[in-house]
Amino acid sequence: MTEFFQGQMDFILFFTGLAFFFFGFTFLLIYQIEKKEHSWKFLASFGILRGIYQWLLLVQWMYFHHAVLSAAIIGLDILSFVLLFEFGRRGLREGKKPSRMWGLWMYVPLILLFAYAFFAGGGHILDTVLHLTVSLLACLLAGIYFWHYAAKRGMEKMFMHPIAVLFVLYGASQFFIDEKAFAVLTGFPIHLVYNVLAFLIFLFAWLQYLAFLKHDIFSQQTETKTLSRTQKILSFLVLVPIVYVISFFFLNFLGSLAKMELKNESNAIVSVASENFKHVMITAKNTVSLLVSFPEFVEILSATSSGNTDQASIVLDQCSVVSIDGVCYIMNTDGVVIASSNRFAPDSFMGKNYAFRPYFTEAMQDKPGEYFALGVTSNIPGYYAAHAIKNVRQKIVGVAVVKINLNAIEDVLHTYQHMCFVSPEGVVFLSGDPRFKGNTFLPLSESEKQTLVKRQQFGSSTFQPLFETYPLKDTVMRSDKDVVYVTSAQINGGGWSVVYFHGAQKIYQYRLFGIVLILLFYIFIIASLIILQMLKRNAIFAYFASVIYASQDAVIGKKLNGEIEVWNEGAERLYGYTSKEMIGKTCDVLHPTNERDHEKTMMERIRQGGAIENFEMQHLNKKGELIDVSVSMSPIKDVNDEIVGVSLVVRDISRAKKLEKMKAEFVSIASHQLRTPLTGIKWFSELLLNGRVGGLKNAQKEYVKQIAESNQRMINLVNDLLEVSHIDAEGKFVMHKKQEDFSEILEQVVEQLSVMQKTKHVHIRLGKTCKSKILLTIDSIKIQQVLQNLLFNAIKFSHENGIIDISCNKEKKQLVCSIRDRGIGIPAQQQARIFEKFFRADNSVDAGGGTGLGLFIAKSVVEAHGGKIWFESEEGKGTTFFLSLPLA
Ligand code: ADP
Repeated sequence: MTEFFQGQMDFILFFTGLAFFFFGFTFLLIYQIEKKEHSWKFLASFGILRGIYQWLLLVQWMYFHHAVLSAAIIGLDILSFVLLFEFGRRGLREGKKPSRMWGLWMYVPLILLFAYAFFAGGGHILDTVLHLTVSLLACLLAGIYFWHYAAKRGMEKMFMHPIAVLFVLYGASQFFIDEKAFAVLTGFPIHLVYNVLAFLIFLFAWLQYLAFLKHDIFSQQTETKTLSRTQKILSFLVLVPIVYVISFFFLNFLGSLAKMELKNESNAIVSVASENFKHVMITAKNTVSLLVSFPEFVEILSATSSGNTDQASIVLDQCSVVSIDGVCYIMNTDGVVIASSNRFAPDSFMGKNYAFRPYFTEAMQDKPGEYFALGVTSNIPGYYAAHAIKNVRQKIVGVAVVKINLNAIEDVLHTYQHMCFVSPEGVVFLSGDPRFKGNTFLPLSESEKQTLVKRQQFGSSTFQPLFETYPLKDTVMRSDKDVVYVTSAQINGGGWSVVYFHGAQKIYQYRLFGIVLILLFYIFIIASLIILQMLKRNAIFAYFASVIYASQDAVIGKKLNGEIEVWNEGAERLYGYTSKEMIGKTCDVLHPTNERDHEKTMMERIRQGGAIENFEMQHLNKKGELIDVSVSMSPIKDVNDEIVGVSLVVRDISRAKKLEKMKAEFVSIASHQLRTPLTGIKWFSELLLNGRVGGLKNAQKEYVKQIAESNQRMINLVNDLLEVSHIDAEGKFVMHKKQEDFSEILEQVVEQLSVMQKTKHVHIRLGKTCKSKILLTIDSIKIQQVLQNLLFNAIKFSHENGIIDISCNKEKKQLVCSIRDRGIGIPAQQQARIFEKFFRADNSVDAGGGTGLGLFIAKSVVEAHGGKIWFESEEGKGTTFFLSLPLA
């Protein structure tokens, strides 16, 4: 299992990096939407740096340790986590009153820790310290911030919760600094955990981004036309694993392609080497079988010790010179060499006893002996072939041996550095690499070592183990420094083999090629998505622009310095200036001189982020004519949410104004004209009622009375209508203000209503404060009307014998006058409409006639004086009307 992941390490590292990159870019996009959260920038940088870090790890994994690379990796590791730490710190500090809480002081212990770690133990310790403290701390802070953030903003930020949890897990996973131990413990590498976490973090970040997109004006516009958000999420969730799996198979396909090539190459090399060995063996065997056929050897072996060996030596010399690079020699049955082709060499075998060699014992048992060993006398590695020498009675009298030196073959091995000739016990007998020679593939037990030493087969080797697992044929092995492909070939039945370690960088290179292709594929996909999005945005832009341009209303866009940037068709129609004439200029020509200051204050309001709706004013057109317009102004913001200009929508209201004026004039004239005949009717009905022109019968009197009452109501209505016609479109009155004594006016009104007060048996109590002088700058007739109206209502809506209290108070340069009755009150649900034109509450209909205009007029009058009118009321208990007016 571990080996499987070992082979996929590049895939894992690449995708972890990619996930971090994507995560970083996603938060850059989120930052575009959620500008206010500046700390997103730090998070985005963390993601991107972490991505680079992962890819550097990938490079290191492929090309092994390099000091500069290792330093860069540690540097990035630290920097990325410091950025994450800063993100958490800033996020948590936000909105905290004592900003000391998450202040910069937090870096002091970190820096001290780093400095200590670095000077105490260098890069390695620094790495450990980083993972045990800073990364954990940073992930924790980030996790807390995400959680906090999600909780604060509700449903919309729901994907922040899983991100918070994942960050804490990522922090915890940093604890496993010993990668090897982790792999042994779990069966998979820690990098797989990082990979899964990084991918999930990116996934939720992306979902969060899509959730945020809801606010984006462009996505709102495009969403209905293209995929819905859910469809986007689903296709993303399906596509990503598919790409992942396809990439996996693609890389492994390339890897196995490389492996196949390696296999062919190394098989060819190994077979050449093994052929060499076989050739040596056959030569030795043939020579030795030739040797035993010479009768000279039987002779010297049978003779007494002082026999003549010359003849035999000549045969040996010939054999050794003609057919082989080595030594031919004859041993007696005790294992002592009695004749040898190297008898004159300084390391001559003559007289030496080699009875301990297995080839000798085997030959003595009449079996063909063969053996690979390091010569005890010559110290030259060789292949030994031995054969028994028999006399005519078939009795074994000695042994003939041919040793072929393997120096030449060893030289060939040197050209393929990592080729080994290995014994059945796993001892490297010959190798191009001196570090291999004499060592073993796997650890040997002490007793095994002892036997090997006793045998003297491999000289004075120490038998150090070279690998942790046996290098099996056709496998890829990775060490701390290298990666190799293993091939081997058996030499003979005895278990000797040639093992070749072919450098396997090729596999990585092939897979790297695949990784680059996948990366290019991603870049291609993302670039096309971006281009598509841009095209779509441009189309929407053009669409918006034409909507604005074709608008009936004048739409004007200005910079903050007043320079005009947009001047649509509506504006051309309204003012008569073309866009060419206006763009780049200011709006000064449109404002009559007395309005310019006004314009400035409005601009100031916009600069502070406010908006102005339907403000009515007059503008000048190109001909110099005044036109009535309604202006709405709102700020224009750039992508950073900063105000960069003002947009004005101007509507021509001169027609509406004219119509309104005509209507008011009509009402005024009509009411004036109606007043004269109504006064006539009033006069004549009073004449009939007071009996001066003769008595009326009771029934007649009753009818005339009703005529008079109806007529009075009509007079009231006409009066009110006349008043209303004086109120202009903005609800203001034309007024003639003077300094007046309010208490005097109040007294007069009470006096005027005394008759009505008596018939209804209502008692009015005028507060003490209302009797002293109260100076106000007012239109006395209008204010009198207001008081009349309020008091009239109070009497009208009081019960019999009711009490009405009037009081006056001076509060902060204002006079507040209240009129309190204990009458029918106003139903709660109708209170909001009481100041509307013609509105009358349901419970008031029985209480006597009315037009529903009185309070409307009163409000207009009071507001025209810069005052206010309001009330408190409870149905069935009574009403208090309040009136505030500025003191003189
Ligand atoms: P009108 O009195 O001619 O109907 P107003 O505009 O003066 O018209 O008053 C509007 C309505 O406000 C009245 O019809 C009545 O329903 C309610 N209202 C005004 N004053 C009082 C009051 N003091 N007590 C109860 N209801 C009142």
